[in-house]
Amino acid sequence: MDFKLTDEQVKLRKEFYDVCKDLEKRKPHGFAGLESIYDTDEGWEYHLYCAREYAKKGWISIGWPPEYGGKGTIGDKVFFAEARGYYDLPGIDIFGPEMLAPTLLGVGNEELNKRFLPGIASGEVQWCELWSEPNAGSDLASLTTSAVRKGNEYIINGQKIWSTGAHRAHWAFALVRTDPHAPKKQMGITFILFDMRTPGVTVKPLYYMDRAHVYNEVFLDDVHVPVENVVGQENEGWRVTQLLAGFERSSLGAIMMMLRQLEELVRYCNETKVGGKLLAHDPLIRNRLAQMACEIEALRCLGYRIADAQERNEMAGFEASGVHILASELQERLSWLGADILGPYGQVKRSRWSPFDGWYEKWYQQSFVLFIAMGTNEIQRNIISWYGLGLPRMK
Ligand SMILES: Cc1cc2nc3c(=O)[nH]c(=O)nc-3n(C[C@H](O)[C@H](O)[C@H](O)COP(=O)(O)OP(=O)(O)OC[C@H]3O[C@@H](n4cnc5c(N)ncnc54)[C@H](O)[C@@H]3O)c2cc1C
Repeated sequence: MDFKLTDEQVKLRKEFYDVCKDLEKRKPHGFAGLESIYDTDEGWEYHLYCAREYAKKGWISIGWPPEYGGKGTIGDKVFFAEARGYYDLPGIDIFGPEMLAPTLLGVGNEELNKRFLPGIASGEVQWCELWSEPNAGSDLASLTTSAVRKGNEYIINGQKIWSTGAHRAHWAFALVRTDPHAPKKQMGITFILFDMRTPGVTVKPLYYMDRAHVYNEVFLDDVHVPVENVVGQENEGWRVTQLLAGFERSSLGAIMMMLRQLEELVRYCNETKVGGKLLAHDPLIRNRLAQMACEIEALRCLGYRIADAQERNEMAGFEASGVHILASELQERLSWLGADILGPYGQVKRSRWSPFDGWYEKWYQQSFVLFIAMGTNEIQRNIISWYGLGLPRMK
């Protein structure tokens, strides 16, 4: 891979960073991470504001075909993700631009593309993912939410769970069972889109241990959805979901977020004395910061390699699993490092006494969710062992 950027890329990258730096100045006080997007009205408004600002520049649809308003390359998309990650900015809900849009483009139904891509590109329509159920997580193909066809509609009944941002989203993409008698459970599933305001959709909060509202249960009682909202063919939803496996989504943003956090920890250690001695003079702390810097840099190179493979359509699905595992585990170790460096202050909730606005108190407890969301790390390791190493599947 050639790491040298063209003059145009250098210019565009600078523009991404400049715009993101400006948007950071408008961040509500204490805004940090995914939780802040969905938990409060203020955070949600800021998310939508950022989305509109990106949309004005055509940045939400970077990498899409020009006929749908797209421009630029996967590389440009990566630089944009990096800039957003560095400033920890919202504005791109992973579900619409990162998951549904590439899926729609991959399936290639022009009518669906014309109906749904403009709302994603403009940031006006925000999406949620209704896949997991109380008895279908890692084994997603066991899902039981049913969709029975009647004339030109499906009537959907069932329950979804862990639905991130479903209380804010305008539309949902869901997996439903359309053939309960299919010979294999993967074969009777359909991928369908519906408006979250459709009668019969009830969203109930699942609060975090700190009472933040990010996740939900969604109950579907006789929800009528037109058949033209199916993505792909009836009973072929599993194949549609497989399209997503090859998209490396958010790791470079997360990696840049880590880089920024590391920079801030270094600054803190250079400014803070404990027992009359600067933390930056403590050999153990220096060692751990340096180790973290190496690991972040290595992961960043891997992220670029994968983005480059994706650009050339040469990416294997298991490679994204590798980055997912490494990025999530590194984020957890960074949260431990921050909490260790802050000592007792690392346990203080957001207040004037807590450095970094209480980020490490929160993140130390929550970073493990990254091992679960979007497929657990155990499942990612299974994918690597099957597809990457050719090991046999376990029953
Ligand atoms: C932060 C967060 C956000 C989420 N957002 C959404 C969302 O927006 N929409 C949505 O639909 N879902 C969402 N989820 C749900 C997520 O996709 C599931 O939690 C995940 O797939 C795991 O399913 P589960 O919780 O049922 O655990 P289970 O599948 O019950 O797994 C329990 C444990 O067993 C292990 N395990 C299971 N099967 C195997 C196996 N074959 N080999 C080895 N180990 C195995 C798992 O790794 C895990 O450690 C979210 C989850 C989290 C944590």
